[in-house]
Amino acid sequence: MRGPATELIHAGELDRTDAVPLTTPIYETTTFVFDNAAEVVAYNEGRSSKYLYSRYTNPTVVSAERKLAALDRAESALLFSSGQGATTTLLMTHARAGDEVVCSAAIYGGTLHLLQDLLSHFGVTPRFVSLDELATPERLFTDRTRIVWFESPINPTLRCVDIARVAAACRARGVLSVIDNTFASPINQQPLALGVDLAMQSVTKYLNGHSDVTGGAVSGSAALVAPIEKVRRMVGTVMDPHPAYALGRGLKTLPLRVARHNANAQTVAEFLAKDRRVSSVYYPGLASHPDHAIAKAQMSGFGGMVCFDLGGSYQAAARAYDRLAVIKRAASLGGVESLMSMPVLTSQWGHTDEQLRAAGVTRGMLRLSVGLEDAADLIEDLDQALG
Ligand code: PLP
Repeated sequence: MRGPATELIHAGELDRTDAVPLTTPIYETTTFVFDNAAEVVAYNEGRSSKYLYSRYTNPTVVSAERKLAALDRAESALLFSSGQGATTTLLMTHARAGDEVVCSAAIYGGTLHLLQDLLSHFGVTPRFVSLDELATPERLFTDRTRIVWFESPINPTLRCVDIARVAAACRARGVLSVIDNTFASPINQQPLALGVDLAMQSVTKYLNGHSDVTGGAVSGSAALVAPIEKVRRMVGTVMDPHPAYALGRGLKTLPLRVARHNANAQTVAEFLAKDRRVSSVYYPGLASHPDHAIAKAQMSGFGGMVCFDLGGSYQAAARAYDRLAVIKRAASLGGVESLMSMPVLTSQWGHTDEQLRAAGVTRGMLRLSVGLEDAADLIEDLDQALG
């Protein structure tokens, strides 16, 4: 007779072949059971499809990774505990001490700080370049350049970079090209098809889409992704099964959500562009946007992000921000709810005037992540907030 503690721990285990779920369940387990030593040996030698430990791989996470690979038309995709986890793991894998990482100066603040304030401690030197320099990528490289990291559309100005041109210049020099595709999502932009080596995304945004998961992703060829998976094991930046389940569910509606984000953002951008209280509107879907032609050539939709400027005035921007009623004052983007942020208080917080200039950001800018609400309600809210 077993004791009650043993019974409580081991009784009631299901025969999993009886219950065949329609959706991939949450395998909320840290470890996996083997039948015998030979199975463990087969796993260790890569001759088994079994799982060993959830910091390495977990079925719920792998299921979402396969969806993501299909979406990115990639051989392989990996999920991480955050976008920053994805960026850090990728850079620690593919950059060595002594290497230079060329990075767009107009970039998400977290990427800038990671390169400037942390990876620099490990002998990886960042060199931040302007959009003009990225427009002639053939001249970007030194002998030490190992990686070119850029975004398109760029946070928060929505400026766009000719992705195929940067990718081709990198390939000709044997330099790794990496794009942060968070703002576009793979529905609007397919960077791997444009020749980029690796696509990174914060899945916290459009991919999950419901503002309730923090995660990151990297997609690309199996040859480039496999070493990142090894480093992910070492640094422990893997996604947990629970958020991977939520992500897998969110991904199923991504094309529908992105179509509505695109349509709502275009409507809002056109409203703001006609309004004399607004000095500039940045949306790649407007013919007035400096990179409209590039965006049209490489994107199938212009995305849900709209940025606008109230004459460079922090006071005017803060006043409008404080008056919003429907749109929420919150950082982040890509969820069903419309969110407003002031770049100088969030992604560009603490940037010097020179860094702000390089990023094309002013103190009067407001960045709107257009959600899935009725566009008329968003316009009414913006109209009253502008006063
Ligand atoms: N890249 C971009 C463009 C972002 O906007 C963010 C976050 O806001 C990140 C990367 C970092 O992602 P996470 O917050 O999931 O770590």
